[in-house]
Amino acid sequence: MKVSRLRSIWSPIHSQVATPYNKVMGNAVATDNGLAAITSKVEKGVRITAEDARWLWQHASDADLCSLANIVRNRFHAPGSCTYMVMRIVNYTNVCVAQCDYCAFYKLPGVSGGYVMSHEDVFAKLDELLALGGDLAAFNGGFNPQLPLSYYCDLFASIRARYGDSIEFYALTIAEFLYLADHAKLSLSEAAARLKAAGVRWITGGGSEILTENFRARHSKFKYTVAEYFQAQRAIVEAGLKTTATMVIGFDESLDERLEHLERTRNFQDETGGLASFLCWTFKPYFTQIGGIEITISEYLRHLALSRIYLDNIPRIRTSVLTQNELALDGLRFGADDFDLPIEDEVTQKAGATINLDFERILNYARELGYSPEYRHVAGALG
Ligand code: SF4
Repeated sequence: MKVSRLRSIWSPIHSQVATPYNKVMGNAVATDNGLAAITSKVEKGVRITAEDARWLWQHASDADLCSLANIVRNRFHAPGSCTYMVMRIVNYTNVCVAQCDYCAFYKLPGVSGGYVMSHEDVFAKLDELLALGGDLAAFNGGFNPQLPLSYYCDLFASIRARYGDSIEFYALTIAEFLYLADHAKLSLSEAAARLKAAGVRWITGGGSEILTENFRARHSKFKYTVAEYFQAQRAIVEAGLKTTATMVIGFDESLDERLEHLERTRNFQDETGGLASFLCWTFKPYFTQIGGIEITISEYLRHLALSRIYLDNIPRIRTSVLTQNELALDGLRFGADDFDLPIEDEVTQKAGATINLDFERILNYARELGYSPEYRHVAGALG
């Protein structure tokens, strides 16, 4: 893999003209034939096409989407069941050279406000997570050229040594993994092997946003191509590490781009079977270069349903409390079966996300909807 452009990415990003997202969506008049044909497919377990998905997005009512999503959900999960985890995202460094125009988190090297956490800083955050009843940490930072591979290996090995299986951690996102391997001049498989030897078990699908080359050229052209993203994810799977699929919506992406992302994800799962879950969250625009306004909860829920119907090969579909608070739990009715209760994520909080630590209130919202949330322990179980 050749991604050396990241070593000289100090020029400003020049965004290309975006294809505007088509905000026309559901509750339009659906033709009975179109809905009946797609419903028949879903009931029989026949995979829907991108054209079917487009039709559903543009014509199906919310009730129709819920109904179809639950047909697929019920193949994997008992009705009324759902799971959750208490977790924290540990933003170990905010120094980053990628300059994504949708990011309010990063600081360029040498700019005031940049930081790197020490082991003690990280341990304090993990201790607090345990005290709050959580057992999953997800590390997410920037592309920091001052951090060698040894920083990561030492950090992850020290966490394993200190906490054993009482905490599990998502070590990096795929985007960071690509940068780390590139920066250390290692092949993807060598980098994965080094991290695995340091105790890493998971590298999540973060950094995907919208997986089309055009979207990345518009907004994050230094954050690796779609092809490189999947090369990295394949190397992670082949190394015996676990991984996940992610997606972020609500930028300026087109419907075609959303569908392309879902299609690529479904294909990757067909080929590898390596995706443990799919998590979609929404873009928070505040204090970002790109700006904009947030999409509605209705649009998010419809997309969750469409994802559940489309991704017929991923058992766990997750809804994002981090970006939608308790309203995200309506996603359980739209096909999701799992959610996080986050205690911190500086990246989304800097862009406008708010976190509610009243977990019982959030869980009660799920119960009022008719679901019985059960804690899902990733730690020790590799679930
Ligand atoms: S989204 Fe991630 S890679 Fe992009 S600028 Fe922010 S920290 Fe860097």
